[in-house]
Amino acid sequence: METNKTYSVNENGYYGVYGGAYIPEILYNNVEELKNNYLNIMNDDSFKKEFDDLLKNYVGRPTPLYHAKNISEQFKATVFLKREDLNHTGAHKINNALGQILLAKRLGKKRIIAETGAGQHGVATATACALMGLECIVYMGEADIKRQAPNVSRMHMLGAKVIAVTSGSKTLKDATNEAIRDWINHAEHTHYIIGSVVGPHPYPDMVARFQSIISKEIKYQLNNTIGKEDPDYVIACVGGGSNAAGAFYHFMENESVQLIGVEAAGKGIDTGHSAATLTIGKPGIIHGSKTYLMQNEDGQITEPYSISAGLDYPGVGPIHSFLHDVKRAQYISITDDEAMQAVLNLTRKEGIIPALESAHALAALAKFNFRSTDTVVVNLSGRGDKDLNTYINFLNESNYAK
Ligand SMILES: *Cc1c(COP(=O)(O)O)cnc(C)c1O
Repeated sequence: METNKTYSVNENGYYGVYGGAYIPEILYNNVEELKNNYLNIMNDDSFKKEFDDLLKNYVGRPTPLYHAKNISEQFKATVFLKREDLNHTGAHKINNALGQILLAKRLGKKRIIAETGAGQHGVATATACALMGLECIVYMGEADIKRQAPNVSRMHMLGAKVIAVTSGSKTLKDATNEAIRDWINHAEHTHYIIGSVVGPHPYPDMVARFQSIISKEIKYQLNNTIGKEDPDYVIACVGGGSNAAGAFYHFMENESVQLIGVEAAGKGIDTGHSAATLTIGKPGIIHGSKTYLMQNEDGQITEPYSISAGLDYPGVGPIHSFLHDVKRAQYISITDDEAMQAVLNLTRKEGIIPALESAHALAALAKFNFRSTDTVVVNLSGRGDKDLNTYINFLNESNYAK
């Protein structure tokens, strides 16, 4: 039986009042098929063996839990970085893409579709499809195609077809709409690999389970290093919320671990140019699930903005809406400028160039008054290679590097 202490999804696909599966009837069979099979497949020994082997030998897991001494000194606590940036393809997205592709194969699907914003999920999906020899179609907003050219080239090299989406703001939300439209038109043989803990049930739970490897590893790595499994804080950035869900997963039931989600405040939450969904949004329905959503008084989705394309989404995974409402996790927001300073700080202090998304989590370190005995884990969700152009432009406009 479920107790009200649990933070897991219930059998109808809800976290509290959030989640569910608000889908057109034509997708009902696909979503039902997934719902009825995902747990059995994921618990099957042959699946586990294949997935674990790929995570170890292809992705490079376990990723290190690095004690960052220089920023520990700076922020007066013991700070560990969970190095998801060292995964194959440069971020946590590959954990989910590989998990879903193994699942799709077992469901007999031949054609894979995905949406992508910054291109990281598109690259991870194209990588998994190349490995498994499956057809791959990635929907990407025209604006993002221009912003993220290197990732578009990677997808092409990997054999994926990238379809430019020209509707709406030509970004992630519109790419997702287009991917759902494709799924409706090719429901039978197509599996849609959603890239975060969003979409209709069972996607949010399934993706959280695939990403939960992050907190599973943190637990035993902390135990090996400091002799206890649980830190005082876990901090992660939140776009759709998958790296945060994975980093929180095995700590949720231990209320002494403070869970901090960090959204993009863009140019400031009062400027109309942000993606701080849980701070300024209201509940509504987006891409098949009920969750907080940035919307105007008429319920129309408002355009999100962040310097980082991976956080530029007007919704958030339903699990985070729930953790926010019941106050199990705390959500703060970080501006473009604060994130950029955190990029430069980590680069100079630790010799690690982080992704812009991950820099939002790093910037949160300055927002808390830690006790000197606190153990803080920051999930470093990705590496900064894809953001180099943004960094170079910033450095050229400032005097930082001179
Ligand atoms: C995609 C991405 C994110 C945001 O997605 P979540 O689902 O919120 O994790 C964060 N960091 C990096 C490096 C990404 O590529």
